[in-house]
Amino acid sequence: MISALLAERMAYIKASKIRELLKITERPEVISFAGGLPAPELFPIQALADLTSRLILDEGYKALQYSTTEGYRPLREKIAMRMEKVFKTRVAADEIIITSGSQQALDFIGKVLINPEDEVFLESPSYLGAINAFRAYEPKFVEVETDDEGMIPEALEAALKQAKHPKFIYIIPDFQNPTGRTWSLERRKALIGLASKYGVLVVEDNPYGELRYEGEILPAVKSLDTEGWVVYLGSFSKTLCPGMRIGWIAAHRTLLEKFVLIKQGADLHTSTFSQMLINRYIETQDFDAHIRKLCQVYRLRRDAIIRAMERYFPGGVRCNHPKGGLFTWVMLPEGMDGTELLKEALSKNVAFVPGASFFPCTPKKNTLRLNFSNMPEDRIEQGIMRLADAIVSLQ
Ligand code: PMP
Repeated sequence: MISALLAERMAYIKASKIRELLKITERPEVISFAGGLPAPELFPIQALADLTSRLILDEGYKALQYSTTEGYRPLREKIAMRMEKVFKTRVAADEIIITSGSQQALDFIGKVLINPEDEVFLESPSYLGAINAFRAYEPKFVEVETDDEGMIPEALEAALKQAKHPKFIYIIPDFQNPTGRTWSLERRKALIGLASKYGVLVVEDNPYGELRYEGEILPAVKSLDTEGWVVYLGSFSKTLCPGMRIGWIAAHRTLLEKFVLIKQGADLHTSTFSQMLINRYIETQDFDAHIRKLCQVYRLRRDAIIRAMERYFPGGVRCNHPKGGLFTWVMLPEGMDGTELLKEALSKNVAFVPGASFFPCTPKKNTLRLNFSNMPEDRIEQGIMRLADAIVSLQ
């Protein structure tokens, strides 16, 4: 039997039942809040088409060739400049490695840091893709209680005190996937204090931070770190396009060297072509203006989903009001089950992801994640009306 030959770790890596259920969302009559896709009509197609042909003609000999594992130097320099400008975070270009999306960085973090049974602390709930990437390395997940301002420091400290092999704290402090929540500055500072006190790393995953629709961008947790505890993950997936697969890790040099070794075994380097194309895009186009445009469109979509939820959802259903990002989070009355609701919702041609999947240890079944970036406002409203109907018929 082939299955008897699989590595033991494959026992932890399973296809999700929810994914099976969500396959029907490909049908055009289904309004899906399930994905996490940016709006494709906002990809700068013409600029990228022009830059692509110029890149191939001018520098194709380089763009189509193998390149260094660390990544294309001019792009690493631009990323370092942007991290300082937007998130007040000073890193040198050689403290950055380009990865094939930040998803690859999550896998590398597991590979470089996790021994079986090491404690990995995460927000309750957290990003499913990170949970699955880490799970292959057999950690012990510790869910830390979280409110609208981030992890509760007392809960985190209690968990750190109890841990046998505390390794790192994984957080998404800006417009979290799945809840849309953002950490306050005080909580960011408290986190750094605890990381330093207990000698654990912080993995700060920040793909959504630039997509802010109200208020001021907060400094990254990494900017508050003077001792090198924070491993920062960035990505162009939501600010430009995910298909190019360009993300990065900014970390202390000791760790960076290890990521380079691991990347050599994984894929040698990230696509030279994608890196050079994004570098040219930033060099020749107004990236800030592009992000302002994304924020304008997504803000309207965020407003539309909040308005529709307030208008159509029955009493007792609570929803989050995200200040940015692509998601909002819904809490159904106690006793209702998001997975049951999904079945009912699919019969009404509307879809979402039940929240239970985002809790590695103790699922809160009465929760849902809704994405609002991928469709126009009228479709959002229609989808929320259908979802409200599904909630009412389960009550
Ligand atoms: N981290 C978080 C929190 C995400 O939501 C995602 C994608 N949805 C990723 C990492 C991976 O993104 P990418 O590999 O496209 O950079």
